Amino acid sequence: MRPIQARISAGAMTHNLRVAKSHAGAARVFAVIKANAYGHGLSRARRALAAADGFAVLTLEEAAKLRLMGVEQPILMLEGIFGADEIARCAEFDLWPVLHHVAQLDWWRRHPPARPVRVFLKFDSGMHRLGFPLADHAAIVARAKNLNNIAGITLMTHFAEADEAAGVDWQLQPFLRELAGHGLPWSSANSAALLRYPSTLGDWVRPGLMLYGASPFAEVSAEQLGLRPAMTLRSEIISVQTLQPGEGVGYGQLFRAERAMRLGVVACGYADGYPRHAPTGTPVLVNGRVSRTLGRVSMDMLCVDLSGCADAGIGSPVVLWGEGLPVDAVAVASGTSSYELLCALAARVPVEEVA
Ligand SMILES: *Cc1c(COP(=O)(O)O)cnc(C)c1O
Repeated sequence: MRPIQARISAGAMTHNLRVAKSHAGAARVFAVIKANAYGHGLSRARRALAAADGFAVLTLEEAAKLRLMGVEQPILMLEGIFGADEIARCAEFDLWPVLHHVAQLDWWRRHPPARPVRVFLKFDSGMHRLGFPLADHAAIVARAKNLNNIAGITLMTHFAEADEAAGVDWQLQPFLRELAGHGLPWSSANSAALLRYPSTLGDWVRPGLMLYGASPFAEVSAEQLGLRPAMTLRSEIISVQTLQPGEGVGYGQLFRAERAMRLGVVACGYADGYPRHAPTGTPVLVNGRVSRTLGRVSMDMLCVDLSGCADAGIGSPVVLWGEGLPVDAVAVASGTSSYELLCALAARVPVEEVA
């Protein structure tokens, strides 16, 4: 069998949820498990994160799946309903949709559910992606309250820069100021806000990334945050080559040896979810030691430097990210984010669940 594998640790996810809860105080925690739980598997994540107060997903299909798996906690649909037909199914499966656009209010007016459903009204406090304008809050809340079978309203917003220097106050302060008068519960925090800004906690927090053991911050490591990596992408060396000075490796011959050197060919490529744009020098663990990738990543293989790994050969273990090599380090080196790397784990990679 091709030696690549993703080891996914339920224990790490459970641990990371405890870290999230310790920051959340009295706020309840939605474990965000959209995008197949950031690549970790919906069903696996919901079991590992069973102590969450609720789950947040993107679509009705995911939400209904969770109900059919026996999830009893609240389930939030982060982008809400994509059509009027989904309203009845929210009632059927007891799902909480986010309403962020007047079109959704209109669908609800014309097709109210058969029984009461709680909704989250999302306001745009500066992200300018989804949400009602803050300035329209009085009219929007009044309109929502007039709809049939609304069980309750929670106010919501989302931060654009919680992980960066600009922070959250430029969004949070207007959000709280405008909406305080309604006396409704509210939710704003993603992982970065939960970890850094207690002022954002509100009634529900919505951590995603941190549950999988990656850091939302460029300058603070997951380990420093007390998080454990949930996914370890590992493989093995399947060929060893020796390059002479001036010889190149791989498509485009992007890496050329300056002196004679050994390289290892690893059974992992972009069709497994490893980023094709990872340049020479992206960190990788070979036999437990840090080495670097060489040349262009191909579909099913990539090459690593064995210069400092005299003991490495065919069958030597390689960790692409995870245990011993933070996914954040690979993300930085390849100019992307740990979100993208984790979500991109390909379906063809066999997953082994470990404690
Ligand atoms: C994905 C998402 C989250 C989780 O964000 P993380 O940065 O992964 O913690 C929270 N809220 C909304 C609306 C989201 O779409």
